[in-house]
Amino acid sequence: MKLNRLYGLITLIIPFFIAAQQNYKLTKLNNFYSFISVEISNNEPLVISENILFTSIKLEFQQPTELPLKIGYKKTDGSQNYLTAHISDHADEGFNGSFSTPLQVFEIPQKEVKLDFGNIKGYVKIHLFYAKPINGSIVSNLNKTTNPCDKPQMISYTEWRAGLPDPKPPKEATEVEHLVVHHSAGSNTDTNYINTVRNIYLLHTQSNGWDDIGYNFLIAPNGLIFKGRDPQGVADEDNILGAHFCGKNQNTMGVCLMGDFMNARPTEKAVFSLKYLLAWKLKKDRINAFGQTNHPKPSGSLLNNLCGHRDGCSTDCPGDSLYAMLPKIKAEASRIADSCGLTLSHLNSIKNKGVTIFPNPSQGFVTLSINNSISNPSMMVYGLAGNLVFHTSFTPNIPFEIPLCPGLYFYKLLENKAPFHQSILKIEQ
Ligand SMILES: [Zn+2]
Repeated sequence: MKLNRLYGLITLIIPFFIAAQQNYKLTKLNNFYSFISVEISNNEPLVISENILFTSIKLEFQQPTELPLKIGYKKTDGSQNYLTAHISDHADEGFNGSFSTPLQVFEIPQKEVKLDFGNIKGYVKIHLFYAKPINGSIVSNLNKTTNPCDKPQMISYTEWRAGLPDPKPPKEATEVEHLVVHHSAGSNTDTNYINTVRNIYLLHTQSNGWDDIGYNFLIAPNGLIFKGRDPQGVADEDNILGAHFCGKNQNTMGVCLMGDFMNARPTEKAVFSLKYLLAWKLKKDRINAFGQTNHPKPSGSLLNNLCGHRDGCSTDCPGDSLYAMLPKIKAEASRIADSCGLTLSHLNSIKNKGVTIFPNPSQGFVTLSINNSISNPSMMVYGLAGNLVFHTSFTPNIPFEIPLCPGLYFYKLLENKAPFHQSILKIEQ
């Protein structure tokens, strides 16, 4: 959901110079959230030193800037460190016109942070959150699901939310047609994932003012899946209306990979968990991963059933790297769902028609053999993004050419224009 970029930890240990502290006033709303509004007019760092602890910070400006700013804090060993953060000119969820850094989550609670704004000037709102650390022993190998078709194991809300304010009722159920992939735009080096989820929850509920964390699910770099929004008895957690898709949350389920995937790729473990989570949901709700559906209903534009946040909103999310991986993730989630018995309502079972396509992979020439006789057979071939790239009629058992570049494709076979089979086709050099 977060739209901004964090360019990683700077590990330089720079001694802090004596800062001429600017006047500011801290407003403490409750034990979990405080904020400061201050005008930055000179190049001196701002030191925030209050009689409170905080575990994460987000800075919000009134205008965009490409200039980086530095956040000095203490590491677990007591040494000073700097985070470098960039402001994005992309609006955060539902907050058009806000220019803010991604949420910066600290490894340990901080008493004092030093903000070096460099040449940035103007009004800044500083959001400070405090999620009391909890025992991390629940971080086990929950993601090792024995049956790949089962719902993946997950960390429950009650575990990760311990000691934080409850989400607000009532929740609303929604019939899911679109699975939306996000990144958190947060750190790729954090290892205390529960701490990160707790702080995202505070950002969403305390500062953004939402009723709960925005996503239905979050996935940590070690593959752990966290349940996101608490359904509060209204429906299954994957059918709860979220807050992650620029106000068009109807008929969506939001999954957030924790980290910044503009330039870096998510870990294999995180992608593994994502694929199996998506496959489980595809099968559960009989969603065609390669299909498109109007969004919002009934007259919105066509949106891929499995998509990234940027496909529907003005944002970089889920990052260039992760976005480029979505077609492959889609193909694999679809394959897993198919192998788990997903048969889409408008398609007859592959077994009834006895379809074989060979060779597959091919070099462009294929033969389709079909056990049953069918009339007016045709083939539609789609790119993995769901765009139609080729269609042809064909005669079973006679080779024909598919004149496409090497790559992975999705195809449907039709009888009298009614689809009866779909699968993946690979074309090689
Ligand atoms: Zn997003």
